[in-house]
Amino acid sequence: MIKKAIIARHYGFCMGVKRAINIAEETARDSDEQVTILNEIVHNDAVVKDFREKGVGQKFAVDDVETGTLIISAHGVSPDVIERATNKGLKVVDATCPLVTRIYDIIAKAVGQDYYIIHLGDRNHDETTGVHGHAPDRITVISNKEELDQYPDWTDRKLGLTVQTTMGLEDFVEFQEAAQKKWPHIEVFETICNATNKRQTSIMDLAPEVDMILVVGSTTSANSGRLANIARLLCGRAELINSAFDIKAEWFEGDGDAVETVGVSAGASTPDFLVQDVIRRLVKISGGTAEVVRQEKKKKARTAKIAG
Ligand code: SF4
Repeated sequence: MIKKAIIARHYGFCMGVKRAINIAEETARDSDEQVTILNEIVHNDAVVKDFREKGVGQKFAVDDVETGTLIISAHGVSPDVIERATNKGLKVVDATCPLVTRIYDIIAKAVGQDYYIIHLGDRNHDETTGVHGHAPDRITVISNKEELDQYPDWTDRKLGLTVQTTMGLEDFVEFQEAAQKKWPHIEVFETICNATNKRQTSIMDLAPEVDMILVVGSTTSANSGRLANIARLLCGRAELINSAFDIKAEWFEGDGDAVETVGVSAGASTPDFLVQDVIRRLVKISGGTAEVVRQEKKKKARTAKIAG
C-alpha cells in the first residue's frame, strides 16, 4: 500500500525546452503562413500532439517542406539543413537550445585551433547528428567506452572531447577516464548541461529513500530514458511512463515487498501537468491516504565528482 510519494527536487521542463516551446507557440500564433517543425520540437508525445492539434505541421526532412516557416527543434541541426531550407525560400526560426549552440561554438573554436574532436553521444539522436554536421571531417562520434579500441593512438593529433548534453554523468566519467588512458593528451570540454546534471543527481539521492521510482517521459526522450536507467540501477524497481494511464496498481502490491514509498521524477521535456496527473493517480491508488512531499535538499553536491 502506498503511504508516501516523494517528488524529485529537480524534474521536468528545463530552460531549453521551455524556450523552444515558447518560440514555436509565438511563431505559430504570429504567422499567416504554414508553420512546420522539423523533427519533434522536444521529445515528448503530449507536447508534439498539442502542436499537431494547433495545426502546426511536423516533418522529418527539409525536402518534405514546400513553403512557409520552418522551426528548428531544441536539439538543433547541422548547418547544411538550415542552408538547404533557406535556399528553398523557407523562413527559418531557430529554437536550438543555447546549451546545444554552446557545443557548436566550442567545436568551432577548437577546430580553429587545429583540434580533432571526439564526441561522446548517441549516433541516432538529433542532437548528435546536428553536432557532427558542424565539422563532419573533424569529429568522430563514439557511443561508449567499448568502442575506443577501434581507434588509433592519434599521438600526432590535438584531441578534444565533447559530450552530448543529456549523457549520464557516471557514463561520462567512465568514458573520460578510458579516453584519457588511451589518449593522455586529450583535452576535455565538459558539455553535459546543468539541467541534466541536476535531474540525475536528484534521482541518485532519491533512490535509497524509496521502494520504487516512476519517471514520467516519452521513450523518445534520451534524458528521460537515462533517468529511468539510473533509477533502475540504484533503486531496483523503476518504470518509465508516458502518463498516469500507464500506471498499474499491481506494481505497488506484494507479499512482504509491497511498495510503500514511491519516488516521482520526469525528463526535461515532460510537461508538469503529466507529473501532477501521476501524483493524483498514486494518491487515488492509496485510497486517498498517501502523503505527498518534495525531496529535501542534500548538503553535499554530487556534481563535484564531475568537476574533478
Ligand atoms: S536538457 Fe539541457 S541541453 Fe537539452 S534542451 Fe534542456 S537545457 Fe537544453
